[in-house]
Amino acid sequence: MHPLAYEHLRKVLADKKLVGPRTDCEYYPCHFMGQDCTWCFCPFYPCEEPQTGGEWITRRDGTSVWSCMYCHWIHRREVAEALLNKLCESWAGAGIERVEEEDIERVSRRIFLDLKDEYPPTPPQRQSEI
Ligand code: SF4
Repeated sequence: MHPLAYEHLRKVLADKKLVGPRTDCEYYPCHFMGQDCTWCFCPFYPCEEPQTGGEWITRRDGTSVWSCMYCHWIHRREVAEALLNKLCESWAGAGIERVEEEDIERVSRRIFLDLKDEYPPTPPQRQSEI
């Protein structure tokens, strides 16, 4: 898991609640009006799943990076809430600090696949498709 996503996940698991739309953020809305900002740092990054709207893009220096710009999925309230519940069920009690990194990866992947089945992503159209 990306270090920033891990730190963010620790905070969310400690709070155990959604933050909703964070309208005082200078980047709000970075995806869509009314978005839920709980998973500002996505625990699945980089999911490498184009069905979400995410995609590999090429930087000016020629290197690749996974872009989440067109992923609205994780910011839908029902998805954010279901993810929070699944993660709390997995780790909030025992404490994620005690879980091995590879177990975090394995459980995160299973949660990602379950969540995708239960709440299929419907990515917005990219500018290049309009
Ligand atoms: S594309 Fe969406 S689900 Fe995938 S890593 Fe980015 S924010 Fe998370």
